[in-house]
Amino acid sequence: MRDERVGRVVVVGAGHGGANAAAFLRQQGFAGEVILLGEEPVVPYHRPPLSKKYVTGDVSAEDIHLKPARFYGDQEIELRLGCRVVGVAAGDKVISFDDGSTLGYDSLILATGAAPRVLDVPGSELEGVERLRTVADAGRLKELVKPGQKLAIVGGGYIGLEVAAACRTKGISVVIVERESRLLPRVAGTGLSEFLTRYHQEHGTEILVSGRVKGFGPNRRGSVGTVLLDDGTELPCDAALVGVGAIPRDELARAAGLSCDGGVVVDERSRTSDRSIYAVGDMTRRPLPGRPGLYRMESIPSAVEQAGQAVAAILARPGPKSEVPWFWSDQFDLKLKTAGLVGEGERVVCRSSADGNRAAFFHLRDEAVVAVEAINASTEFMAGRRFIENGTRVDPGKLADHSIPLREVGTAR
Ligand code: NAP
Repeated sequence: MRDERVGRVVVVGAGHGGANAAAFLRQQGFAGEVILLGEEPVVPYHRPPLSKKYVTGDVSAEDIHLKPARFYGDQEIELRLGCRVVGVAAGDKVISFDDGSTLGYDSLILATGAAPRVLDVPGSELEGVERLRTVADAGRLKELVKPGQKLAIVGGGYIGLEVAAACRTKGISVVIVERESRLLPRVAGTGLSEFLTRYHQEHGTEILVSGRVKGFGPNRRGSVGTVLLDDGTELPCDAALVGVGAIPRDELARAAGLSCDGGVVVDERSRTSDRSIYAVGDMTRRPLPGRPGLYRMESIPSAVEQAGQAVAAILARPGPKSEVPWFWSDQFDLKLKTAGLVGEGERVVCRSSADGNRAAFFHLRDEAVVAVEAINASTEFMAGRRFIENGTRVDPGKLADHSIPLREVGTAR
């Protein structure tokens, strides 16, 4: 049924959050104008392949389009690419562009994402010191490192690990320098960190933890040739990738006077402090059901859920049910899926197959599952997600025993 409500919804940012919001508006029968603005000059695309098959050249730019290019015209979504929004006059409901032009809106959805954190050390500006967020970044990296060469990666987070795995499969040497004492210190438990460390090392990646990068040095051609650590170590490389986190791109929102706190503050319906402006995705700090506080989720499922919430709020309809937070990562032949918030657990129970190739780490608090990290273990992931959703209490002894079916380990609250 076509909603007869008219008006103009402008979406700033054409990543997963923004592009899905535009599509949901049409899916939900919105009959007004939908204008989707992207800063990059390319049709909205899937970001996950950038650090995997795109960087190795196994998929092309067309293969990773979020929707076919004709989708936007077919759906009467006006897609404007390569345009840069520089201001939001919330009182007048007008945005302005860097060329001086302006555009009015009835509802505005901000979906400007996050930007890679810059490593502020000497030599960061050298050619060959790369970051990875956009398809253009991934294209550059792909051209820079070839089989037989060496990539140094600063940061043992998801960007670093996924690119390391992709490069190793192509015969590129990789060294990872992580500042903390283990990989994925912020988002993973120690069990998962140890599993991944071992797996990457077995596949030839050199991993240096507690490594302090103090700069990058040039080679004879003037591009990056070494990563310099503060203990005097010099790591030779042909290119360097910096993956040390992402910061919310909330500068438009801050300048517009919206409430921000390390990201734009939104409610459970993606509403900001201005009643005509919504925000979704990596730029937001959002509430999670049943938990106090606000969270930066930095995940595609969260961005897509928020896009659905924003569209429902604009159309004055009930929103989709909030999901248990989850995300996935592929590294070599490992399918990693996590659900819940790891930091909330007090005790970890590992359930692994006899050969050790499948493992799930269940994080418990008062015998209730608060998070699960599953490696090649989709049954455990699904069960863990259900346990979290239902507040199921589990018997830790039974949970650890992979011969006992998961349906027999818990009792719903
Ligand atoms: P990330 O996951 O936050 O990891 C960055 C890592 O770099 C952290 O372990 C961080 O440690 C470390 N670090 C920070 N400063 C450092 C320094 N000076 N030297 C060495 N290590 C340092 O960020 P990312 O890997 O850059 O990824 C960027 C964003 O893309 C994140 O939002 C990530 O979740 C997302 N992403 C998601 C996926 C996926 O969902 N599969 C894949 C790729 C990227 P501290 O925590 O101590 O700062």
